Amino acid sequence: MYNLLVLVICKILSFGIRIFKKNSGNVVGKIARKLSPDIIKYFKINCPVIAITATNGKTTSNNVISYIVKKNGKKAVSNTEGNNMETGIITTLLKSSSITGKIKADFVTLEVDESYVPVVFEKIRLDTLIVLDFFRDQLDRNGEEEALILKINEFLKTYEGNLILNNDDPNVARLGRANPDNKNVYYFSVDKYEYATETEKEAGEGKFCPFDKTRLEYEYYQYSHIGKFRCPTCNYGDEEIFLEVKNVNVKDGMFVADDVEYKTLANSIYAIYNFAASLAFAKLYNLDAKEALATFKLDNGRCEEIEVNGCKTLINLAKNPTGANVSLRILNEDSEEKELLFVLNDNIADGFDVSWIWDINFNINNVTRIITSGQRAYDIAIRIKTSGFDATKIEPYLELDEAVKALYKTNVKKYVIANYTALQPTRKAILNYKLHKKK
Ligand SMILES: [Zn+2]
Repeated sequence: MYNLLVLVICKILSFGIRIFKKNSGNVVGKIARKLSPDIIKYFKINCPVIAITATNGKTTSNNVISYIVKKNGKKAVSNTEGNNMETGIITTLLKSSSITGKIKADFVTLEVDESYVPVVFEKIRLDTLIVLDFFRDQLDRNGEEEALILKINEFLKTYEGNLILNNDDPNVARLGRANPDNKNVYYFSVDKYEYATETEKEAGEGKFCPFDKTRLEYEYYQYSHIGKFRCPTCNYGDEEIFLEVKNVNVKDGMFVADDVEYKTLANSIYAIYNFAASLAFAKLYNLDAKEALATFKLDNGRCEEIEVNGCKTLINLAKNPTGANVSLRILNEDSEEKELLFVLNDNIADGFDVSWIWDINFNINNVTRIITSGQRAYDIAIRIKTSGFDATKIEPYLELDEAVKALYKTNVKKYVIANYTALQPTRKAILNYKLHKKK
């Protein structure tokens, strides 16, 4: 009875807050959880609950999955804005529930922070868990990556629902063995693409077999430690593949899966992996994904393209070395002359420790100038200088507006990389500059 009352009150609150403030974030979820710590248990969900977790790409993948559901004429309730901790998920459910907590939808799809998977799904039923990748990220908050994987592994020991795993990430595929009784494990994989390498180019993890500590043998690396691996001792890596993406053409965003050709707006191997995970979900639930993938736009600074007075600008989020390496890889695969803006902050959400920038591979081609900005403009400038880039061509600016102004002094193509809290201010500064310049 008490929980029903909390639901009713918070539902009314969420409605009220929405009227006054469009983006209410996690506020209502926080209040609801304070009033009743287990409130999430009291939502009545009668449709499949899908969760997506990863270090990188969970927001994009959740958005793609939710979009596939909608394109099939069905209703999805999703935290597409990326509020991925328990209070954010409560907020999402409150917004979409009836006054008594009933969720009317065909699917609930949730992006969930890695460390919150066991917390949230101890309380609500989970039908399908999708795991994309595990990289070094936000060490201050999560602790060591291995501890995080073990936490999810522990949760999976008794889990019998569907498990969709990236078979090209040895940190992820191992989760398929957490519960030997679970027959619902599905692996997806992306076949070697044109920029795959024989040796590892970027700092990565997971080079040893998690079961017997033998060094893993790689046929190729797609990026970081993602690739075709195998343990010579126990054959770890040789799983039966449920969904394989083949014939990848990154430049045109094209690939083939289950004999269907997909044309997408993606331009990175990274996005292709997000699509592969989403396709595995679609296949499992018998949904058509062709139209959804053809029209899905990557936006919100996640590989977003903005034109500033005729100057092509590509913005990407990078909150850890892999994210940054993938952005730099896209830059390297582009043969045009270009300039780079790198914005680095060190707020709580970023993690105060910015030492991860030393794991970025700054081997870059055809970049004629680099501007740095953000609270740690000088740290990133020094990092880039140390990589051997001509120091006279690096310009640090603490003020973001100054940095953007300096960036557009020339009309050369721009690449922008910003970390978590820097991303939206950077987008805004660029859009402001664009607007101002037009007058
Ligand atoms: Zn092994």
